[in-house]
Amino acid sequence: MYCRNCGHPNDENAWKCTQCGTELRAAPAPITSVTPGQPVAGVPQPIQIPNYLWQSIVCTIFCCWPLGIPAIVYAAQVNGKVGKGDIEGAKVSSKNAKMWCWIAFGTGLFIVALYIALVAFGVLSNLSHTGVGD
Ligand SMILES: [Zn+2]
Repeated sequence: MYCRNCGHPNDENAWKCTQCGTELRAAPAPITSVTPGQPVAGVPQPIQIPNYLWQSIVCTIFCCWPLGIPAIVYAAQVNGKVGKGDIEGAKVSSKNAKMWCWIAFGTGLFIVALYIALVAFGVLSNLSHTGVGD
């Protein structure tokens, strides 16, 4: 690289100019090569925001559909907002979709547990009616 102070050509890895001693690394380096894995200024990176769509659908079908619907609505918004460049909005929708997924899942789990408890209770009370008294 060339010294920004005196213009002396130095070795590419040199950190100091051999001619005048100016630090070469301190200067904003001209972008000659792109380091793999580094974000490139001006090139939009593909943004990955989870949309929780399949999770929402699974929760809606198997858990509790009235609570799964908001999850699906928010999940459907995520990709649309990413497409419009509304990254913050997409993140909010993604977060809401996830939240409603968990609400639906938790409620579904609670209802199933309640159902099992009621069935178990019913079975027990049936047993006490038929078996023991005679
Ligand atoms: Zn120099």
